[in-house]
Amino acid sequence: MVCQRCLELVTLPIHSECDYAVVREGANTQSVPKGYDVLEVGEDPLDLLGLVEDELLLALPIVPLHDPKDCQQPVGLDEPEPSEDEVTRSNPFSVLAQLKRDPNV
Ligand SMILES: [Zn+2]
Repeated sequence: MVCQRCLELVTLPIHSECDYAVVREGANTQSVPKGYDVLEVGEDPLDLLGLVEDELLLALPIVPLHDPKDCQQPVGLDEPEPSEDEVTRSNPFSVLAQLKRDPNV
């Protein structure tokens, strides 16, 4: 990912935890404990990869930034707004994440 303050590469740890209760399609979900997302499994196999992908996208920060002390640009200077093109070129994942968040897309 690219830091939106200094446009240098930044590596950000992502923490994402999710609990799923897998049930058969049409099964009674009343007994699923609170805090669990219900995953209904029917004829199709469970798309685990897609599921993990979604969770990762949701866990990504919208605006990736360095820790202030690691950033190339001193705090307090004007922060340049990155252009759309720059974001698209440098960080396809953040664009995907934004698409996911926008229900109109
Ligand atoms: Zn930075």
